[in-house]
Formats: sequence, C-alpha cells, structure tokens
Amino acid sequence: MTRPARVRLQPDNKTTLRVDGRSLAGIFVAVCGRSCGDGRVIMFSPALEKQRQQLYADTTQGMAQRLRSVSGPVEMLAAVGWGLQKLEQTYTETPAKELAKVACCAGCGICCSVPVDVQAHEVFYTAEFIQLNFSPADLAGVIERTAARRASVAGLDEEARSRLMQPCSLLRDGSCTVYAGRPEICRAHHSNNAEICTAHVADPDVDPSPDYIPVLRARMFAVMLGMDAAIEAAGYDDRAYDFGSALHEALTNSLCRVRWLQRKRAFPESCLAFPHPAGD
Ligand code: SF4
Ligand code: SF4
Repeated sequence: MTRPARVRLQPDNKTTLRVDGRSLAGIFVAVCGRSCGDGRVIMFSPALEKQRQQLYADTTQGMAQRLRSVSGPVEMLAAVGWGLQKLEQTYTETPAKELAKVACCAGCGICCSVPVDVQAHEVFYTAEFIQLNFSPADLAGVIERTAARRASVAGLDEEARSRLMQPCSLLRDGSCTVYAGRPEICRAHHSNNAEICTAHVADPDVDPSPDYIPVLRARMFAVMLGMDAAIEAAGYDDRAYDFGSALHEALTNSLCRVRWLQRKRAFPESCLAFPHPAGD
C-alpha cells in the first residue's frame, strides 16, 4: 500500500499531479493505481471532480487551522486525529452504490502484507495508540516484530522493498490491532476483489489496481492528500517512511517525537520507504 508521498493535488480545475518529479495535468484527471505513480488516469464527471476538489480544500483548510494552534504533542495528535476522522467520515458519506462494491471486511487482512508507506504524523499517531492501549507484554511484542521488520528491509532498494510481502507487525489473527490508530493508507485502500489481493501478495507482478473502486479511492485520496499538503505547508516532516521501521524507532527512541515537533526529520534515513535525492 504505497502512498502518494510526493503527490500534490492542486485545488483548481486544472488538476496537476506531480508524481516523483513528473507531472500529469488535465481537467477531471485523477490518478488511481497501485502507487499513484503508475500513470493510469481515470476520467471523472464534473460533479465528482467538484466533490474531490472540495474534500481536498476542506481537509487542507481544516488541518492548517488546527496545526496553527499546535503548541505540543497533545494538539498535534488531535490535529492528526481530526484528519483521520475526516477520512472515516468521507468513507461513510460515499454513495451507497460505490460502497456496495467494497469486498473488504473484518478479518480480511491480506493487503496487510503489502509494504505500507507512511509519514511521520501517522507513525506517532499509531505509536500513541499503542502506548495508551497495549499491555507491557503486547508492547514488547510489537517492538520485537517491528525490529525484525526493520532488519528485513534494511538496505533494500525501492523495487526490492515493494516486492517484499510480509505481514504487518500489527496484524494478529487476521485483524488489525491498532484499528482506531491505523495509518491513512490503511483507511483509504479498498478493493472489490479479495482474490486479486491474494494473488498480488503471492505474486507482486499481479496488478490489483483494476479492481480498485475509482470513485471511493478518489474521495479518500483527496482527503489524504489534503492532510499531507497541510502537514508539509506547516513545515513538518513529510518524507515517506517504511511503517514498521519508523514505528520501531518511535517506540524505542523518545527523541524522535521531539525532533518531529521541532519540524525536523523525525526518523533516520534507514527508516525511509525509498531513497530521496540529497536535499529533498
Ligand atoms: S483491499 Fe483486498 S485484502 Fe485488503 S481488506 Fe480489502 S479485499 Fe481484503
Ligand atoms: S496498521 Fe493495521 S490495517 Fe494497516 S497494515 Fe498494519 S495491520 Fe493492516
């Protein structure tokens, strides 16, 4: 579940998407694919495009307003929580005929073996959830599993990491143990065909994106991109990290949260989802 780490959606009627330095431009255009970098474009109706732009604008403005009043971790996590709730609300307000296509259900955790890309605010939100809700024994278990995850992706390039199918450290008995604290992409990712998800995990060359639900995905990604744009505009770390690796750092090194709140890079380079050009 790669995320559009460096995609910027402009809230005008000439949508421009920058995907890792490349541009796709046009009216009523949205990227909808395995990584938002695969170049597939879906044409939307003017009404849906308007909705999408509105969701993006509302989220960006709502997040920006909350981020302006941040003076410490409590307000910061509340701002992130507001954005995540906006994602949940956007899902429930999606037209019923689109939601009827969703194959996802409780206990279906197949996609939780796909590498998860996150930004720092999501990592700290999940870490806070774990620290508040997990027993010491369960916390120790997460630290052990995220350490193993970190070791397994260390030194992998982007391609090798994207093909490493490995159950998320937070998946237990087919269920997410941090459901209320899970990252953005875990909330925004859906499919209408669990069999394709299974096939993709077994063979990363199987493309699951034809079975995504474009209307739902466009709405959810508009909110996700709105959150990310506000985070970046406020000067917080917006680099894409490997979820398990960064979570391990967040749970074992309290200084990384201090750095994050100081608008510095929260996690070491070794936790990045993929290498970034110098100075990026
Ligand atoms: S995206 Fe696929 S694997 Fe994930 S919950 Fe939905 S149907 Fe299951
Ligand atoms: S955080 Fe939860 S939903 Fe996301 S990949 Fe891990 S187990 Fe799955």
